[in-house]
Amino acid sequence: MTGEKLPSRSEDFPEWYNQLVLKAELADYAPVRGCMVIRPYGWALWENIQQALDRRFKATGHENAAFPLFIPRSLIEREKHHVEGFSPELAVVTIGGGETLPEPLVVRPTSETIIGHMWSKWIHSYRDLPVLMNQWNNVVRWELRTKLFLRTLEFYWQEGHTAHATREEAEAETRQMLDIYAEFAASEAAIPVIPGRKSEAEKFAGAETTYSIEAMMGDGKALQSGTSHFLGQNFSRAFDVKYLDPAGQLQYCWTTSWGLSTRFIGAIIMVHGDDQGLVLPPRLAPIEAVIVPIFRHDAERAAVLEAARRLRSELVQAGRRVKLDDREGLSPGWKFNDWEMRGVPLRIELGPKDLANRSCVLARRDRPGQPGKSVAPLDELPAAAARLLADIQQSLYDRALAFRQAHTRECRTYGELKAAVETGFAVAFWCGGSGCEATVKEETKATLRCIPLEPAAASGACVVCGRPSGERAVFGRAY
Ligand SMILES: [Zn+2]
Repeated sequence: MTGEKLPSRSEDFPEWYNQLVLKAELADYAPVRGCMVIRPYGWALWENIQQALDRRFKATGHENAAFPLFIPRSLIEREKHHVEGFSPELAVVTIGGGETLPEPLVVRPTSETIIGHMWSKWIHSYRDLPVLMNQWNNVVRWELRTKLFLRTLEFYWQEGHTAHATREEAEAETRQMLDIYAEFAASEAAIPVIPGRKSEAEKFAGAETTYSIEAMMGDGKALQSGTSHFLGQNFSRAFDVKYLDPAGQLQYCWTTSWGLSTRFIGAIIMVHGDDQGLVLPPRLAPIEAVIVPIFRHDAERAAVLEAARRLRSELVQAGRRVKLDDREGLSPGWKFNDWEMRGVPLRIELGPKDLANRSCVLARRDRPGQPGKSVAPLDELPAAAARLLADIQQSLYDRALAFRQAHTRECRTYGELKAAVETGFAVAFWCGGSGCEATVKEETKATLRCIPLEPAAASGACVVCGRPSGERAVFGRAY
C-alpha cells in the first residue's frame, strides 16, 4: 500500500502519475494489455463526477437511456468520415456461440450510429423534437499506446445525443453542453478550462464542428477533458432520421453528441496532485474528511475512540463524507501519510489533550504541514469543516488558474511559440491553414488544442506563415 516513496513530479512526472494511480488504489492494470480495473476508491470518485454531471444534464431536460454494446458493422460504415476515423480502433466480434456470425459486430467505440438507426424509427414529426438523451456506459477503442485513465482500450463515460428541428437549436445545444462541462470542471473539480473550437484536423470523425474543454496539467501539458460535437445533418442523412415539419414537408434532423470520460480523473490527479500524492477537490472527493484518533494506551483509547465516533456521526448528519481511521497497530503518523497520499482534503486529529480542551486539530491537504493546521472547538466542528472545505475548493481552483496563467505565453513569433510549448501553452494567431498547423505539430510536437471562444475577434499575423489572421489558437503538447 504505502511502502516506497513516489518519485517527485519534477524528476519524473509520468512515473509519479503511474505510481500514484496504483498506490492510491484508484486503478490497476488488467490482464488484457491496455485495459484497466477501476478500484473502489477510483470508482467512488467517478460516481461523484457522474452525479454532478447527471444533475446538470437532467436540469437541462436530458433523459438517460441504454443502447447495446454491439453494433452491426454495416451501421458503422454508413457515415463515411465516421468509419474512416474509427476503423483503425474497432474491436470486432466475428464468432458468437461457437458459430461464425452472418455479420460481424462492432463493440461500440461511441453510439452515434446505433442511436441514429433507432431514431429513424422513433422520430416522425416536429412534435417528437427535440430528443435529448444521454447514456452512461463503457466503450472500446483499440488504442496502441495506453495510460491508466488517460487512454485505455475500454473506458467509461457518458455520451449525450440530441436531435433537433433546426441548425440553430442544435448549435445552441452543442454550446450549452460545452458550457456545462466548463462550469462543472471549474466548480466541482476546481479545474479551470479553456472552452474552444477544434481545428478541422482535430475534430470528431463525422462532426461539422467539435468543441472541447482543454485543461493544463501540472507538467504544462494539455488534456482534452470533454468534447461537444455539432453533427449537422451528417448522421441524420446517413441514418434517414427525418421529421415532418408543420408545413407537412419532410426534413432531416440536426444532431449533436457530447462526452466526458474517466479520463477526467487523470485531469484531477495531474492538475492538483503534489509530491505527497493526490489532492482531491472536496466537492468530488470520495472522503472529504478523515478522523485520525491519537492515543498512547488503552485508557486513552476508549475515550478518544468514543469521541471520534461521535464526531463522525455529527459530520455525517451534516452531510459530510467522513471516514474514521480506527485501524489497529498503525501509528497516527503512518495514517497521516496514507491519507495524504490518497488526497483526502481535510484531516481531523483527535487526542487526549484535544479532548480535554474540547477541541480538535484540522489539517488541510492542500497546505501540508503547519501552515495548513488550525484548531476548532468540538461543538463547532461541522461548521468549521464546511467552511474549510469550501475554502480548500476555492484555493485549489485559484492555484490551478495561477499555474496555467504562469505557463501560458502570448507568442508573436514562431520562435516564441517553440519555446512556450516546452513548458506550457502558446497562444498565437493562426491563419486557419492545416499546413501551418501540421508544421507546428511536426516541429514542436505541440498540437492545436482549440480556438478559444473568448476573447473573440482580433487580428494579427499567423505565427507560422505570417498571413493575416482573425483568430488566436492555443497550442500545447497534449496527453
Ligand atoms: Zn499560417
